[in-house]
Amino acid sequence: MKVCKFGGSSLCNAEQFQKVRKIIKSDPFRRYVVVSAPGKRFTEDQKITDALYECYETASNAKNTELIFSRICDRYDKIIKDLGLKLSLEDAYKTILRHLHTGVNCDYIVSRGEYLCGRIMAAYLEYDFVDAAELIVFNGDGSLNAEKTNSRIGEVLKNHYHAVIPGFYGIGENQKIVTFSRGGSDITGALIAKGVCADIYENWTDVPGVLTASPSLIPNADKVDFMRYSELFQLSRLGADVFHTDAIAPLKEAGIPTSIRNTNSPDQSGTMICKEIPESLKSQPLFCGLAAEIGDGTSTEKVLLHLVGCQLSLILSDVLCALRKAGIDPLFMEDRTNDWVFGIKRQQITEASVAVYTSLVKNRNRRSINEQTKAK
Ligand code: ASP
Repeated sequence: MKVCKFGGSSLCNAEQFQKVRKIIKSDPFRRYVVVSAPGKRFTEDQKITDALYECYETASNAKNTELIFSRICDRYDKIIKDLGLKLSLEDAYKTILRHLHTGVNCDYIVSRGEYLCGRIMAAYLEYDFVDAAELIVFNGDGSLNAEKTNSRIGEVLKNHYHAVIPGFYGIGENQKIVTFSRGGSDITGALIAKGVCADIYENWTDVPGVLTASPSLIPNADKVDFMRYSELFQLSRLGADVFHTDAIAPLKEAGIPTSIRNTNSPDQSGTMICKEIPESLKSQPLFCGLAAEIGDGTSTEKVLLHLVGCQLSLILSDVLCALRKAGIDPLFMEDRTNDWVFGIKRQQITEASVAVYTSLVKNRNRRSINEQTKAK
C-alpha cells in the first residue's frame, strides 16, 4: 500500500487537482493521500498559508480581515467550481472567521489551509476525510508525541480503506491545534506512512527529484535516481529544500522506501530513497549531490564544498585533478561519514563547483561505458 503526499504547487488550482486525481486513480495501492495547502499559481501569487499568516497578523492588530479572508475563500471556491463539485465550505469559512475574531492561536488559523484543501480533495476523490487532529499528537512543549501519533494512525485509519488527510498540523495540549514548521506536510506524510506500515511513501512535488547539485552552484543539474536516507538528510541540512529534514527519521526507522516524484510528469521515475542502495545499482550513483556550506563561522573567506555520496573514494583523484586544472588548490579535505568536504576559497567556489561537477558527470558516463564494454 502507498501513502502519497502532494505539495502546494500540486494543488494550486483545479487543473493540478485533476492531475492528482489521475495519479491516485491510476494505482489502486495509493490509498492514503496527504495534502498541503494550495501554493502559488504564478510567481507573484501568494501561497494560501502565507495569506493565512497575513490574515492572523491583520486580526491581531485589530485591523479588518475581510478583504484578505475573502480572497482565500475565493481561491477555494474557484477550485470547487472548476472541478464541478457540489461542495460548500461556507460553514467552515464561518467557523474560521469566528475564531479569527475571538483571538484563537495562530497555528489554528494557518492550519486551515490544509484542512480546507483536504475537504475538497476528499470530495473530489470520493475518499473519506480524516482530520489530522485525530491522528497527529503534540506534547505540551510543542514537540511531536511520536508514540501516541503512531498508535492513533494505526487505530483510526484501519477503519478507512481510503482517506485524505490534511498535512502540517495535529492536536496539542487542551485540544489546541499545533503545526509543524513550514513545509511540515512532508512530516505528516512520513508519519502516516509509518503508522499504516506503507510499502512506499510517495512525495509528489514540482521538481524531477533530488538534484545532483544545488541550483545556485550548477543550474540545470541532473536528478539523482537513488540515494540513502543519510545522504538525503545531509543534502537537506545543506539547503536542498525538496524534502523536510524532520520527515526523514520516521521513514528511516520504519525502513519505508520514499519516492520523490513530479506531479507534472508522473511517468518519470523521480528519486528513490532507501536505507541501502540495491546491490545491482551500486555502480550508478557515483555521487548524490554537491552543495556548498559557508565555513564554521571563524572564517568568512572559506567555503566548504560537500560532495555527498557513496563512492567518492573511487574518483577522488579525478576530482583533485579537475580542481588543479582549474587552478584551485583545496585548503584542506576531509572524508566524513557521508561525504567528502573540501575547503575552498570563497571567491573560487563557482569555478570549483563547475570543475568538480563536470568531472563527476564525466566519470559517471565513463564508468557506465566501461561497464557496458565489460558486459559485452
Ligand atoms: N502549507 C505549509 C507551508 O506552506 C505546510 C506545507 O506546505 O507542507 O509551509
